[in-house]
Amino acid sequence: MSLTTYGDDMLIRNVRLVALTDAAPGPVDVRVDDGRVVEVGADLVQGGGESSSDAGGRWLMPGLWDQHVHLGQWTLTSARLDLAPARSSAEAVALVRERLEEWPDLPVIGWGHRPTAWPDNPAVSDLDAIDTDQPIVLIAGDGHHGWLNTTALHMLALSTRDSVVSEAEWFMAYGRLATVVGTDGTGPDAYRRSMEAAAAQGVVGLVDLEFSGGVEDWVARWAGGANLVRVRHACYADGLDDVLARGLRSGDPLDGSLPDGAGRLTMGPLKIISDGSLNTRTAWCCEPYAEKAVPGAEEGQPNQTPAELRALLARATSGGLDVAVHALGDRAVAEALAAFEDTGARGGIEHVQLTTREDVRRMAALGVRASVQPAHLLDDRDVTERLWPGRAERCFPLRWMLDAGVEVVLGSDAPVSPLDPWLAVAAAVHRSGDDREPWHPEQSITAREALAASTDGWGTVAVGHPADLVLLDADPLAGDSDRDHAQRLRRFADHVLATWVAGETAYERPS
Ligand SMILES: [Zn+2]
Repeated sequence: MSLTTYGDDMLIRNVRLVALTDAAPGPVDVRVDDGRVVEVGADLVQGGGESSSDAGGRWLMPGLWDQHVHLGQWTLTSARLDLAPARSSAEAVALVRERLEEWPDLPVIGWGHRPTAWPDNPAVSDLDAIDTDQPIVLIAGDGHHGWLNTTALHMLALSTRDSVVSEAEWFMAYGRLATVVGTDGTGPDAYRRSMEAAAAQGVVGLVDLEFSGGVEDWVARWAGGANLVRVRHACYADGLDDVLARGLRSGDPLDGSLPDGAGRLTMGPLKIISDGSLNTRTAWCCEPYAEKAVPGAEEGQPNQTPAELRALLARATSGGLDVAVHALGDRAVAEALAAFEDTGARGGIEHVQLTTREDVRRMAALGVRASVQPAHLLDDRDVTERLWPGRAERCFPLRWMLDAGVEVVLGSDAPVSPLDPWLAVAAAVHRSGDDREPWHPEQSITAREALAASTDGWGTVAVGHPADLVLLDADPLAGDSDRDHAQRLRRFADHVLATWVAGETAYERPS
């Protein structure tokens, strides 16, 4: 099967449709024209100028969306090789070799090794034994030394040696690192690599909630080549004036001057951070934290007064912007819902990590979307039991939400958890990231429900849908939503054969 021939107009023959919503019949043909699905049926006739290929009965579903990403931070984090797992110098060297096999033309900047407990010492000669012209710079987990190859030592004007560069000498050299890398790691090329990695997992779009940067930055980045998958750019309160002055409403294209990508980079919501986080004990709750509460704010705290929150929602709403209100604790969720009700704002609440059944019903009645990051439940399971004892059954209440009719969308909050929608789906289904039993399995949702919450609202592929599609070599719904099924889902990115955005190839598995 050759997928490279697929262009804007294509006929995908002999695919099974993943039954996210409507039950799918046997294998069908799917015709794509002008970036949309225009025909689904048996034995479609190939049109003139249309490419065609046989998918051999493989599975087609709508592309995945990550609804909560900090793309700049994720790009920086993922550009750096994570050496924290290395248990020896030899293991660290092996990780560097793997990275260079994947990206032979990029310098290696690694971070996080802790050699104090290693059986062997980091040596320059071990890095020099790797056959590459690229500089290798490995920054220790405590930041106090750098382990470099000779190429990097020369580029940083350091004398040759076989040991690491440490303390004052290293701190001076660290300041010159940008010279070695040639970029600060946030250029369009770096963003493009993040998008390529996402597309390889079946991602066709993401909502970028990065804290810094405005409309102009995204337009320039897009024009510079960071345009592989769809992006909704969110603004924060400090950028609201600029967005309103430009007359931009949520959904408006930001790439209108670029015929190639029209409508793929769009204006997203106004993001408002209304409370804090669990780990810093700043998420705003109805009851105090059981341990290590912040003095004077034992229940966490809001970041705005009720009047300030309403003023922001009202301004965004009158300007045609949706809002995305970060509310993690149950008190913050209740206050956010009250503000939605008072202002008639449209949009959703980010996180909704702790809430009540009553507020879930209110959310449904108000039409407020819940944007949840299920992978956080794996990380927060233990700390929740300590800081919020007796409240765990109300954490990440996905079952309650779907049963009440709340619109649920999933995301990663990358870099807090990896930009990988399959991890979120697996966590929503099984609610355990280790050998333990699921954490409050009564709040689990099925694989079908979790995937349907990951496709930006698109169900089983049908006529009229955008040609944002993923071809898989296995059916993600096959299984019983049990532990085994969740384990397969966690690694389902391995089953992605091709990803299309508006009918154009964003990823194709090398044959
Ligand atoms: Zn976030």
